[in-house]
Amino acid sequence: MSADCIFCSIVDGDIPARTVHETDDVLAFLDANPLARGHTLVIPKSHAQHVGDLDDGLASDLFAAVTELTPRVQAAVDADGANVGINDGEAAGQEVPHVHVHIIPRFEGDGGAPLHAVGGDRPDLSDDELDAIAADVSAALDG
Ligand SMILES: [Zn+2]
Repeated sequence: MSADCIFCSIVDGDIPARTVHETDDVLAFLDANPLARGHTLVIPKSHAQHVGDLDDGLASDLFAAVTELTPRVQAAVDADGANVGINDGEAAGQEVPHVHVHIIPRFEGDGGAPLHAVGGDRPDLSDDELDAIAADVSAALDG
């Protein structure tokens, strides 16, 4: 854990939260500053800042909780859909440096935007550039 991490403090019970689901390794609670009714955060109980810091077992447990919770959160607030996402890193808008998955219920006509709206100016990439990016990612995984 990290002593000054607000989510570690929630895990430890030092800061109260509206817990909706808990396992040995994962905790889910309502966002204290919700973007929508039912906005829920799902976190690994052990401190990790980035998704790439999660080991395979914990990543699996985390996503299993997300898949269980998403339809149940939607049903609880009678939502029409949900955005599920992670802000990974400061540049992406991560405010608490402890991995957290947002489940944001969505309602017809709520005025919100799709995840596509989080990107900045769209790059104009050639086929060669796309091939090079794909090769770099692939090589990084195989390395
Ligand atoms: Zn933490």
